[in-house]
Amino acid sequence: MELSSGIGTIKGIGAKTEELFHKIGVYTLGDILLHYPKNYDKLPEITPLAELPEKFEVGTESITTALAVHIQKTPFVKSARSMQITTLQVQEQNVHLDVIWFRMPYLKNTLTLGSWFVFLGKVTRKGNGYHMEQPQILVPEKYNAMQNCLWPSYALTAGLSKNKLSQTIQQVLKELDLSKDYLPEEIRSRHQLAEYNFAIENIHFPENDKALEEARKRLIFDEFFQFILSAGMQKEQMEEIQNDFSFLPLEQRLWADEVMEKLPYKLTGAQLRTLGEIRADLRGKKVMQRLVQGDVGSGKTIIAFLAMLDAAQSGYQSALMAPTEVLAQQHYQTFTNLCEEHGLKIPIVLLTGSLTAKEKRRAYERMELYPNAMVIGTHALIQERAVFDNLALVITDEQHRFGVKQRETLFLKGEQPHTLVMSATPIPRTLGIILYGDLDISVIDEVPAKRLPVKSCVVGKNSRKTSYDFIAKEIQNGHQVYVVCPLVEESEGLEMENVTDYTEALKKNLPKGTVVEYLHGKMKSGRKNLIMEQFARNEIQVLVSTTVIEVGVNVPNATVMMIEDAQRFGLAQLHQLRGRVGRGDAQSYCIMINTTDSEKAKKRLEILNKSNDGFFIASEDLKLRGPGDFFGIRQSGLLEFRLGDIYQNADLLKLASEEANLILAEDRRLESEKYASVRERIQTYIREQAEIANL
Ligand code: ADP
Ligand code: MG
Repeated sequence: MELSSGIGTIKGIGAKTEELFHKIGVYTLGDILLHYPKNYDKLPEITPLAELPEKFEVGTESITTALAVHIQKTPFVKSARSMQITTLQVQEQNVHLDVIWFRMPYLKNTLTLGSWFVFLGKVTRKGNGYHMEQPQILVPEKYNAMQNCLWPSYALTAGLSKNKLSQTIQQVLKELDLSKDYLPEEIRSRHQLAEYNFAIENIHFPENDKALEEARKRLIFDEFFQFILSAGMQKEQMEEIQNDFSFLPLEQRLWADEVMEKLPYKLTGAQLRTLGEIRADLRGKKVMQRLVQGDVGSGKTIIAFLAMLDAAQSGYQSALMAPTEVLAQQHYQTFTNLCEEHGLKIPIVLLTGSLTAKEKRRAYERMELYPNAMVIGTHALIQERAVFDNLALVITDEQHRFGVKQRETLFLKGEQPHTLVMSATPIPRTLGIILYGDLDISVIDEVPAKRLPVKSCVVGKNSRKTSYDFIAKEIQNGHQVYVVCPLVEESEGLEMENVTDYTEALKKNLPKGTVVEYLHGKMKSGRKNLIMEQFARNEIQVLVSTTVIEVGVNVPNATVMMIEDAQRFGLAQLHQLRGRVGRGDAQSYCIMINTTDSEKAKKRLEILNKSNDGFFIASEDLKLRGPGDFFGIRQSGLLEFRLGDIYQNADLLKLASEEANLILAEDRRLESEKYASVRERIQTYIREQAEIANL
């Protein structure tokens, strides 16, 4: 068996279970190894049977525990419906316990008189006594040893149990020979990095805290190292591409200049500088490869529009790629309005996954028909057979949501067009150079002057009512409100229920006539778009949503952002959410509900009060969160590394970058024998990324 073998090749996995694995994104043996735990638990402390009653609080019917039991009576076996049931009865002081096992008659020989065991499982109250079914049986010494272990918990789907998943991973680890490590020994020993097979075993089944830490260190290093090496190798291929496009000269009076003059606002200095850099690139000797970094609300969209206008006027097509349908739709609307307002007759094509077959055909037709079309869309742009005729400029909005590879897939669709990526990711320059080493960088470090900073507050759940009253007042004054619902990680089904239930409850707390609607990831895109449009027109006053609204959405009339379970988000992400308000002239507010009593959580959230600077916030967050604290809090989501977080693991990122660059400096294409295994790994990595991009 190999990493690429299907998960169905594992013994005991039938078609049905295979299907369930596909649901959680596991197709191959390699995939399941990458399905890392999202958290780890320790086994419960041992409870002597006599102390069991104290563990049951009023109202509790069952608990999971490890019970120390002394065998005083031989168990008996009886047959019922062709099944043998083993029953053990134990009594310790006044506490009585019945334990049963199905189809395990041989236990009679294990559970011998006078011996001690630990039973691990669920205990249920039954009559005056207690009851256990099918507990695991362990000798106390073994249990004590196991107590140091950390037990993984995974993202699952209905029908797929944690046990099944753990078992399967154990089987896979046994079947595969992972002893060959692609990473040169020299690098490993230089940074005390664990061997790969140790790391992969211990990320799933850590022997103890230290082993887990070492496993994480190695695997995070790998993620960064492979990312940087592959980017480096590809950069070489892309460098030095001549600019064969001829954009109209800047001396001429361009449509973009006219639009700029007639806008209801003046571009900020930073916007003008960035636009200037882009326009110079478009007319330069080499094809543009530029990153525009600007915090939420700094006004990146208008820059994209103006650049695309230059392309259209010069007779070229351009494309704007957004991470979500909602955002693509919104950009389409903004661009259409801008063209209308300024009397520009430029064909704008919307291309998203939710179009009907007929609409798609029409979109493709228009792309073929108009050599200067502006095309706006989602991933569908790259997934489907999008045909560009005359593509000169590709802009990717909210780049942190895309892998490097996705960016390039689109790049390859055209004749090596100019590329611009726009990101609100607050990263310091040094990290930016590591992660986007292949790009020139423009920073929009100035927000439009008239804006009032958003007022933030952190409150407990008993302030919900007050918050609703406050929301009602804002609505009365003509404003609008976002409410972000608690995260539900276990399943998308639950998330949906959560949002709809919340919406119903919220309606009861707001004045009659307030229109409250909800938005979640499982909704049909048509419906999503409709809701967003209605919200933009203030036909909806309150939008209850999952984090789908996190990126890019722009409704300047919204003045309140209320976030439930705020303590569960990373601060960088909260900052993004807060950025949805404070986009107009009115004072805006961000209400964060801390649903725990934790003072530490409160303190962490209050960092957001201190600053509006995304990077400052993210780095303060790190200082407060100790190691081990990162589980359960969504990470920054940057570039979507599986384990690594560019803030949290900035040190490893630097190390990985240094090592990758040493190798590239010595052997740019990894051709030497010395790097054969690294080359092979990177080639696989590039293939994997391309597959992810095409999913
Ligand atoms: P982001 O950088 O987060 O993508 P947007 O491009 O969505 O921000 O802009 C946010 C809002 O600011 C929009 O309503 C836009 O019209 C407005 N805006 C952009 N530039 C300026 C400016 N220079 N002055 C005032 N408002 C601006
Ligand atoms: Mg934006």
